[in-house]
Amino acid sequence: MRERFWERYTLEELTDEEWEALCDGCGQCCLLKFEDEDSGDLAVLNVACELLDIHGCRCSDYPHRFDKVPDCTQLTPELAGRFKWLPHSCAYRRLAEGRKLAGWHHLISGDPERVHRKGISVRSFAVSQTEVAEEHYEDHIIAVIPVDD
Ligand code: SF4
Ligand code: SF4
Repeated sequence: MRERFWERYTLEELTDEEWEALCDGCGQCCLLKFEDEDSGDLAVLNVACELLDIHGCRCSDYPHRFDKVPDCTQLTPELAGRFKWLPHSCAYRRLAEGRKLAGWHHLISGDPERVHRKGISVRSFAVSQTEVAEEHYEDHIIAVIPVDD
């Protein structure tokens, strides 16, 4: 990977390896979300996709994720700027909005555990979709993201 690529190149100019390395491993995009049909607002649950390894905050079957979870979203440089549902902390969103990576990001700090120690990741609070019945999802809403946020 090129030295400090995240500062020197646009998202569109990144190699696949650099693109993947940008992910801070927070797991927040793997929390279940539901759209309010009337307002368009997004309800975010503390329930994580069945494929998320909650301790590691990584997809447990990344190469086959679209076969197993068809609505898993492929983040691409073209779409990153429009993904308002991503957390403000997300590295892709930050760069798409012209912000810098956070000091705790592993590319800056060299420590992939800092995202967890800082409480950015879902490790400490997420529960797996495999452990929550669908009729209880409403009890697991932890945030509502306004559609125009
Ligand atoms: S929210 Fe962004 S940084 Fe966090 S896991 Fe998802 S893609 Fe990676
Ligand atoms: S399939 Fe993998 S990458 Fe997609 S939402 Fe689930 S855990 Fe996240």
